[in-house]
Amino acid sequence: MTDLVNLHISEALDLLNKKEISSVELTKAHLAEMEKARFLNAYITETPDRALADAAASDKRRANGEALGALDGIPIANKDLYCTKGIRTTAASKILSKFVPPYESTVSQKLKDAGTVMLGKVNTDQFAMGGSTVTSFFGVTKNPWADENGEYTLVPGGSSGGSAAAVSAGLCMGATGSDTGGSIRQPASFCGVTGIKPTYGRCSRYGIVAFASSLDQAGPMARSVKDCALMLHEMAGADQFDSTVAELPVPDYTAALTGDIRGKKIGIPREYRPDGLNAEVAKVWDKGIEFLKNAGAEVVDISLPHTKYALPVYYIIACAEASSNLSRYDGVRYTTRVDGKTLDEMYENTRTDGFGAEVSRRILLGTFVLSAGFYDAYYTRAQRVRRLIYNDFIEAFKNVDAILVPAAPTPALSYEAFKNMSPVDTYLGDVFTTPASLAGVPSLSLPIGLSDKGLPIGLQVIGSILTKTRFSKFLKYWKNRQDLI
Ligand code: GLN
Repeated sequence: MTDLVNLHISEALDLLNKKEISSVELTKAHLAEMEKARFLNAYITETPDRALADAAASDKRRANGEALGALDGIPIANKDLYCTKGIRTTAASKILSKFVPPYESTVSQKLKDAGTVMLGKVNTDQFAMGGSTVTSFFGVTKNPWADENGEYTLVPGGSSGGSAAAVSAGLCMGATGSDTGGSIRQPASFCGVTGIKPTYGRCSRYGIVAFASSLDQAGPMARSVKDCALMLHEMAGADQFDSTVAELPVPDYTAALTGDIRGKKIGIPREYRPDGLNAEVAKVWDKGIEFLKNAGAEVVDISLPHTKYALPVYYIIACAEASSNLSRYDGVRYTTRVDGKTLDEMYENTRTDGFGAEVSRRILLGTFVLSAGFYDAYYTRAQRVRRLIYNDFIEAFKNVDAILVPAAPTPALSYEAFKNMSPVDTYLGDVFTTPASLAGVPSLSLPIGLSDKGLPIGLQVIGSILTKTRFSKFLKYWKNRQDLI
């Protein structure tokens, strides 16, 4: 029998359409695998009953020749940051640990409309703040890739670590993630899967628990680029509930997967190769460059001069926005409340009890950089430097089609090592992912090689966005291609 939990989405769709397998079979295989792999702690909430009912409904649609969604019958997982109507959504926090949303996020709704079967909600760092799932109120997720002793001691990365681990271990065929400063790309690299942080404004943020609204982007994680393309097609697109989503047609992304990159210019920014870059990461990066050259691409050295400011700028802007977004958790709305003698005391008790240490740290930092005396020195200045980082990319994309850089400075670390790191040292892990987040440009992370200890290492392919000239070209092109939309 086909190994149902190792199929790609594209392969499973083929078998489903040929009626060689059913969605119920596919779903049952994944539920069984989830049970076996509970020790990984990838899921916060499993929804087997709903999954089996949705799978049966999908099989019925197919059998009756009814209209099918593009991903009809495919079992997926949602990061526990996506509000799911009637199903607990915790953001891996204590304060939302009993929150059952009365509505569905736009992206999870779109995936539902595409016929997917939701297996459950997967773990994340608390409020998506972190790079390891160590900050989750529900405990750390284990990376399904064992260490050199065969033990499961490694972090899956984060914050979308539950998504990456579940995809990697065959506990779902694809998963939603969210990326504010690297949370799709870094865990994809740590777990050997593929993930896309789309252009800012490609997918709706409606119903996704907000971290830093000018950076948050929803994106797919799966076992191949094609699977990510299939998922993103269903996730992207304009939404009346999020005015930051681009009102642009969503093209068939798989049409671009021709494999032909002859003549494409790929930029290699020198600022991403600092002295002391991890040798194994450097080796995989060189291997990626060789792949591209052998496939006929032209590889050119480029400079993104403001790269070194990305990390501090990111932590100022992300914390500022987080402090504002998280002020809504006050014990009056949503779930847990810890009473006090006065209203202020109730707020204080609820928030002290409900937020973990990392989340509290960021709220404090964010409140500080937004405070009257420091706003211009930190927040305004960070916004200005953000623009310079964006300009670097726009300038570079005048000469290159894409940029190739590492996704993370190391392969997966052990959770013991992670827990003992200072907060600032953990922030340094985001050095390669935050620039693209600040610029809003799209970036794909895909597995390219293995470390000496056999752990996966990923690279990012960063793409451009629609500048004014590209925008009018894009519109002209799509006006003539209405048939493809
Ligand atoms: N690791 C980064 C942080 O902790 C990125 C998180 C994210 O992208 N959600 O802020």
